[in-house]
Amino acid sequence: MEIVFEHLIKLQDIDSNISGTSAFLDVVPARLEAIDRQIRDTAEIVAQAKEKLVANQKKRRDYEGEVKEIRTHIAKFKRQLNDVKTNKEYSALQKEIEDTELGAGRIEEEILREMIAADDIEREIKAANARQTEEKGRIGKEREAILAEQKDLEARKAELIKEREAVLPEIPPDQLRIYLRITKRLNGVAMSPVTDDFCSLCQMRVRPQVLNDLLGRNALITCEACGRILYIQRPPENEHGPVEIVDDPDKVDDSNIL
Ligand SMILES: [Zn+2]
Repeated sequence: MEIVFEHLIKLQDIDSNISGTSAFLDVVPARLEAIDRQIRDTAEIVAQAKEKLVANQKKRRDYEGEVKEIRTHIAKFKRQLNDVKTNKEYSALQKEIEDTELGAGRIEEEILREMIAADDIEREIKAANARQTEEKGRIGKEREAILAEQKDLEARKAELIKEREAVLPEIPPDQLRIYLRITKRLNGVAMSPVTDDFCSLCQMRVRPQVLNDLLGRNALITCEACGRILYIQRPPENEHGPVEIVDDPDKVDDSNIL
């Protein structure tokens, strides 16, 4: 019975397309995750800037509290000035008041610095918000494109699976078993066309006897090197005419005929 290689070739073509489509589909979740990470990153920058402002405001409140407390002390010292008995005590207290005022002044400078820093932080928040809005728009579009691509790939895969179901009954079960065994073992590629007397998948030269057997189309023959099913593509009709077969029965080697 002549082997109809075309069905096996078609099945291989479909299977290769299915695995290519699946490979693209498999990376979709990682691509979406990468996009979502970008959204989270921009949100994180906004959140960090806002936290900075909260910390700044707390610092200012703390400083203001300290200054208020110091001012209370100063007022108390000033009241005590009226009660001192000696000049020495008066000078000492006066000195204490001056030192405390200096301390209060330093903290007030800190408050001013924090106020200036707050302006910078406000600008930072504004910029981070603008960036987030811009990124959301860009990333949103990118996300939509990936989802549309995923939908197309899923439709394509479903179509290929239908095509596969249609071609399977065309292939005799024993041939299909061999094909499936080889695809499982050799990364999904069981069929290898012979090109210029070479196995096109592993580049091993195909012996002339094997070439003759292949042209006979009576059995599945695997490549002696890579183990894939070899076949000779039929030239397009009316182009080069029939292929010459040199048949030498003495030299037939059926060691790798399945
Ligand atoms: Zn090979």
